[in-house]
Amino acid sequence: MNEATTKQYENDGSQYDDSEYDVVVVGGGAAGLSAALVLGRARRRVAVVDAAEPRNAPAAHMHGYLSRDGLPPATLLELGRAELERYGVRLLTARVDDVRPADPGYAVHLAGGPQLTTRHVVVATGLRDELPDLPGMRERWGMDVLHCPYCHGWEVRDQPLGVLATRPGSVHQALLVRQWSDDVVFFANTVDPSVEDRERLAARGVRIVEGAVERIAVADGRLRGVELADGRALPRAAVFVAPRFVPHDTLLTALGCATADGWVTTDPAGRTSVPGVWATGNVVDPRAQVITAAGTGASLAFALNAELVEEDVRAAVAGVRVGV
Ligand SMILES: Cc1cc2nc3c(=O)[nH]c(=O)nc-3n(C[C@H](O)[C@H](O)[C@H](O)COP(=O)(O)OP(=O)(O)OC[C@H]3O[C@@H](n4cnc5c(N)ncnc54)[C@H](O)[C@@H]3O)c2cc1C
Repeated sequence: MNEATTKQYENDGSQYDDSEYDVVVVGGGAAGLSAALVLGRARRRVAVVDAAEPRNAPAAHMHGYLSRDGLPPATLLELGRAELERYGVRLLTARVDDVRPADPGYAVHLAGGPQLTTRHVVVATGLRDELPDLPGMRERWGMDVLHCPYCHGWEVRDQPLGVLATRPGSVHQALLVRQWSDDVVFFANTVDPSVEDRERLAARGVRIVEGAVERIAVADGRLRGVELADGRALPRAAVFVAPRFVPHDTLLTALGCATADGWVTTDPAGRTSVPGVWATGNVVDPRAQVITAAGTGASLAFALNAELVEEDVRAAVAGVRVGV
């Protein structure tokens, strides 16, 4: 996080309080901030609690976001937070370690003790990229060890590229990466592609190199190539790899939110199976890019505000009836 961001994003100096919010958003990446923007503009009382470790932090630039292509990822969030402040959204830098049902709504516990109470909670906590345990891999992640060619393929176009296989699906990644360079090596590593996949790779002009990979060679602050266990070394400018995506979803699963295939499920608006608990962005969708995470965060907020309006109307009608 750069200096300007830290300055802008410090806790606001006031004491944490337990006053009730309409919505507490846990996670202040593109998904969470976007939901909070819409809710703040809908005159809802909103707090965003963010641990400030966005997934794309290792990358110098963010791509594919219309009108913001090439912006440093931290700058996008900085701009977003400044927008939220205009609408009175409270921004807190902290980790939420527990969300519990309260009566009514939910109690959101921040690490260290303070808690916020809220009618609804939005979880936008993202995911963790679990990389193969090879020297050089984590060190160069987001720079020249890459995952998404839509994010960074253009920047390494026409250069010697590698795809490190971690699973049979890596074949698809290699076929895709070939779109950006005609010099792509598929490092089979622990994967034995089928005859059909070998034919597809060869037909698309992707070279297969068999054998276990030992390390990503790094020198003078950049990736130099891929070294195999048998001593061979192939110079490459960048290597693509498919990480294992691990959602930061313990807050949701602890509340009993339904899952399928290891991921918390939501309806198209972002409702989980637990009333009042919503989720958006990478925590429920590993394919969400920054622009789509922002989009689903916004559409979640429209649905959530509509639900709050219904609750407010029900309460008002009940109040009128009691008055009669
Ligand atoms: C190296 C790399 C480069 C990328 N480049 C691009 C790109 O160029 N273009 C693009 O569109 N996409 C890119 N992506 C994908 C992009 O990172 C995601 O699409 C985006 O971050 C998803 O937004 P999100 O809000 O769901 O999650 P995040 O941005 O990860 O935000 C989640 C936030 O929640 C916080 N959090 C987590 N747990 C807690 C908790 N318990 N309490 C409080 N806060 C919590 C985290 O600290 C984090 O700040 C890239 C990904 C990687 C890994």
